[in-house]
Amino acid sequence: MADTIKFEVVTPDQLILSEDVDYVGVPGIQGQFGVLSNHIPFLSALAVGSLYYRKDGQVKYLFVSGGFAEVSPDSLTILAESAEKAEDIDLTRAQKAKERAEERVQREKDRIEFAQAQVALRRAIERINLKEKAG
Ligand code: ATP
Repeated sequence: MADTIKFEVVTPDQLILSEDVDYVGVPGIQGQFGVLSNHIPFLSALAVGSLYYRKDGQVKYLFVSGGFAEVSPDSLTILAESAEKAEDIDLTRAQKAKERAEERVQREKDRIEFAQAQVALRRAIERINLKEKAG
């Protein structure tokens, strides 16, 4: 069996990435997990955060938010509500989103709106951190 994994990242409107890679570090809802080839099949919900993969000795990063990771012995599929390669993250947009979300977190009285603002803030912070680390 090949020792690489067929790695795909898919969002509702596009295929972000499709490559054979050596290793992927995934932000699972219960913590980060690593995927090598021959991994046992399983499904995990994704946390908002950064994902990285290794190919030919190089490490690359992506932002992911909302969705699932499906692991099989020779593949990993990420189905995410939104995903961007580090180089595609617009830092200014994320900074503005962070300011808006901070203002909403301060102001919102409604429990659901407050929770949504907190998640929007987390997306913005994770995008900014990832861009600054890997951009
Ligand atoms: P914003 O308020 O700036 O739209 P958001 O967190 O609400 O941010 P999402 O709902 O996560 O945005 O994503 C909506 C779409 O916009 C997705 O296609 C996502 O990839 C893209 N996107 C959002 N923020 C950025 C960013 N900072 N850089 C590049 N693409 C982004």
